[in-house]
Amino acid sequence: MDAAELLSLDAQHVWHPYGPMPGTVAPLVVTEASGVRLKLADGRELVDGMSSWWAAIHGYRHPVLDAALAAQAAKMSHVMFGGLTHEPAIRLAKTLVDLSPAGLEHVFLCDSGSVSVEVAVKMCLQYWQSLGRKGKRRLLTWRGGYHGDTFTPMSVCDPEGGMHSLWRGVLPDQVFVPAPPAGFGAAPDPSYVDVLDEAIGRHADELAAVIVEPVVQGAGGMRFHHPGYLRVLRELTEAHGVLLVFDEIATGFGRTGAMFAAEHAGVTPDVLCVGKALTGGYLTMAATLCTPEIARGISRGELPVLAHGPTFMGNPLASAVANASLGLLADGGWKSDVPRIEAGLRAGLEPARDLPSVADVRVLGAIGVLQLDHPVDMAVATEVVTGHGVWLRPFRDLIYTMPPFVTGDADVAAITSAMLAVAEKA
Ligand SMILES: *Cc1c(COP(=O)(O)O)cnc(C)c1O
Repeated sequence: MDAAELLSLDAQHVWHPYGPMPGTVAPLVVTEASGVRLKLADGRELVDGMSSWWAAIHGYRHPVLDAALAAQAAKMSHVMFGGLTHEPAIRLAKTLVDLSPAGLEHVFLCDSGSVSVEVAVKMCLQYWQSLGRKGKRRLLTWRGGYHGDTFTPMSVCDPEGGMHSLWRGVLPDQVFVPAPPAGFGAAPDPSYVDVLDEAIGRHADELAAVIVEPVVQGAGGMRFHHPGYLRVLRELTEAHGVLLVFDEIATGFGRTGAMFAAEHAGVTPDVLCVGKALTGGYLTMAATLCTPEIARGISRGELPVLAHGPTFMGNPLASAVANASLGLLADGGWKSDVPRIEAGLRAGLEPARDLPSVADVRVLGAIGVLQLDHPVDMAVATEVVTGHGVWLRPFRDLIYTMPPFVTGDADVAAITSAMLAVAEKA
């Protein structure tokens, strides 16, 4: 099929993320990807500034990941995980336990980030149920978050960005506190700590858990906060008998400059969700980790099992490529690549501070954000970035990048100049 035919069929039949049906804006047709470049049907090549939504940290067609996938496909692509097990999944669980903050010992493998959040919440609710505390089933979070698109994660997404008004009466009613004060480097605000203390204390009897994205709130608004708030959450949840869940689906695996964002705070949550970059962007897989205390609690319950089991749980292909991706991280290149990209993003985005339409410039690890004083015109933005030979996908008033860790300095510079151009024109 040629590109015109593909696009016509796409518009008629294929639903795209957050898109209308039939489609109104033609997407770009990608035919191949390798390294940090996407190749389009019309022959153009674009430097990928998005890592396919935080996932492709090692770039595309990485020889080690390709080889791991092919080797596993030659053995078995999938077997059910009920009653059966296999080395790729066992090795993956062990590596995740070793890499993650100390104290997380048990791993539930699942298919996507949203499902890992569902599992995290189910763990917390079952834990309290089995302790006879059936009233503890609400969640508390701060505004500005994003935790996925199935219903339980939606209930803890930012109420406005998540369109909670559309879902009144459908979504469970959770407890929201204001978004954490902005700035990774901004000293914690004692009055905000009081807000957290008051809300957690007041709702402790009905709260199963506090769930937050540590350090970086991603799709909810690309906001950064001081890690000190995470230490505060750890202390308050312990003091009030509430569990703490960190959603590191976006921040995990080096993106913020630490293997997990929780390390910036030196805090271990009771439950941790990972996903996105877990398989280096090759296949869909996520995981929910928990402490022995959570597992013991569930095992003492009326129903002494975790009542969850996706069909493709522990998929061997995804596990094998995840093991290969974690192996590349273990080689340690990311520890110099992420600060190198951070420096490139800081230098390249700094001039944006002088642009009249730019409200904020922020960089943390391999994440760069320009926030405008108006919503980005998406059609103009796409034309501008592709004209610069770059792929970016702004949303709302945000032009942002989280490039693959292997992005070279010249390509980082291409990304930042494309971002400046969008800020000037869209
Ligand atoms: C992307 C994301 C999710 C949802 O993951 P999916 O794989 O898209 O279901 C949840 N939480 C955070 C922080 C995310 O960035």
